[in-house]
Amino acid sequence: MHRLAQLDHAHLWHPFTQMRDWLDREPIVIASGKGAILRDVHGREYLDGNSSIWTNLHGHNQPQVNAAIRRQLSKIAHSSALGLANEPASLLAAELVRVANPKSISPPGKSREQRNERRNASSSPGPIKLSKVFFSDDGSTAMEVALKLAYEFARRTGRSKKPEFLSLADAYHGDTIGAVSLGHIGLFHEAYAGLLFKSDRVMSPYCYRCPFNRAKPQRADAREYRQCNWECVGKVEQKFAARSKRGNPYAAMVVEPLIQGAAGMIPHPAGWLRRIAEIVRGHRAQLIADEVMTGFGRTGVPSADTPPPSNSLFACHHEGVQPDFLALAKGLTGGYLPMAATVTTQAVFDAFLGDYDEFKTFFHGHSYTANQLGAAAALASLELLQSAASIRARRRLEQALGQEIKSLWSLSNVGDIRQVGLIVGVELVRDWRERKPFELRERAGARVCEAMAKRGVLTRPIGGVIVLMPPYCTTPAQAEQMIGALRDGIDEVFGKRRL
Ligand code: PMP
Repeated sequence: MHRLAQLDHAHLWHPFTQMRDWLDREPIVIASGKGAILRDVHGREYLDGNSSIWTNLHGHNQPQVNAAIRRQLSKIAHSSALGLANEPASLLAAELVRVANPKSISPPGKSREQRNERRNASSSPGPIKLSKVFFSDDGSTAMEVALKLAYEFARRTGRSKKPEFLSLADAYHGDTIGAVSLGHIGLFHEAYAGLLFKSDRVMSPYCYRCPFNRAKPQRADAREYRQCNWECVGKVEQKFAARSKRGNPYAAMVVEPLIQGAAGMIPHPAGWLRRIAEIVRGHRAQLIADEVMTGFGRTGVPSADTPPPSNSLFACHHEGVQPDFLALAKGLTGGYLPMAATVTTQAVFDAFLGDYDEFKTFFHGHSYTANQLGAAAALASLELLQSAASIRARRRLEQALGQEIKSLWSLSNVGDIRQVGLIVGVELVRDWRERKPFELRERAGARVCEAMAKRGVLTRPIGGVIVLMPPYCTTPAQAEQMIGALRDGIDEVFGKRRL
């Protein structure tokens, strides 16, 4: 075994990993990376099929991001944001505010008072402007910040004495205690029930396994052939209405827009998010969009004629929805450095203003908040994302994935294939006609991923769902290689079972 693998085995504890299994075999030790390729200490090459757990955007060792970090490093790596401002963080905050308010959904230039008046006076969605950025370290802390701000905002504006939150079944919003409290994945969260506060849950629009979908399984994305009456939306309305009636309205609803990630790559049918946003607004609650996974172009570049016209980097804008909180992490720095941001409104910011001795301060922050190296990487990444070359590459990759993945419909252990932009989830089942899932203990997804690794493609499953979410620089040929490895991996694990 390689010396570094031995040291790993001796001392490292890996996240979301059964360490007994880990210690049974030699781990892949990554030594370097270039573009979509990771290289291990033995010189073996792998395609990074999940962008290093959904973080990497433009590829590894990307020249412009590397150069931006080097330039910043020659000035300073880090100084505190407690009491000090710094150059890249100021520039990044301004840039995030700009991209978080695309023209197609930005409010007209009205005064804050007029905007607040309109929002308070009407139950209609009304345009919302995101104008303030709170930096933190990762997806969990970005959500923790959103949660605390929404909680205090609801109390300070008199909406609720004990604000409560609504999130989706199987939601995952991070591993810190507040974020876990918003989550509903029993396997991850149940053990800590004693540490958590209660949050309410409502069904997610999981068309493939929806109890209200009367359609028989077909060889197509279940969102397209579903037969239902939007009962999932009705359930959200019922939840809000019941709370309002009891005089204890929700402070906020938390969603991952367009697709729920760790829940199993569950895509929303078109129009779901817009309908949900209308309900949330109608009840004057806040909307927290967790775009930790979906942000920065991951959900694709809609064509110019898709209404509403939006080539925004954020999933919620693709449905013309502007949240009150936008939580960003993972791809913020192009997948280079741990940095996160919670972008919110002037109204929320104002609720924390006061005289010093009123102590309305937001008492929250981290040692590395607004870190210069991270901010420099993020600025370079945002510039790349807005280039014509990146937009072209993302469109091409989205098409290539969509084209190639169709070939998997002929496999009888493939139940559902779901693609949202540059995110693909393939749900494995015993037999597609029955939608019967594998049991967790069978490790169906894990075994397929192990078979893919042998074929030079790395990704991680979510139970029986295989995730492909490659870096944007992945070529169509590399996408084909990834999907080929998935097809061969499924054949190796289950036998060549065709329709
Ligand atoms: N929210 C979502 C939607 C996520 O997918 C994740 C991580 N997978 C998180 C929050 C937590 O992010 P982090 O692991 O960076 O804390």
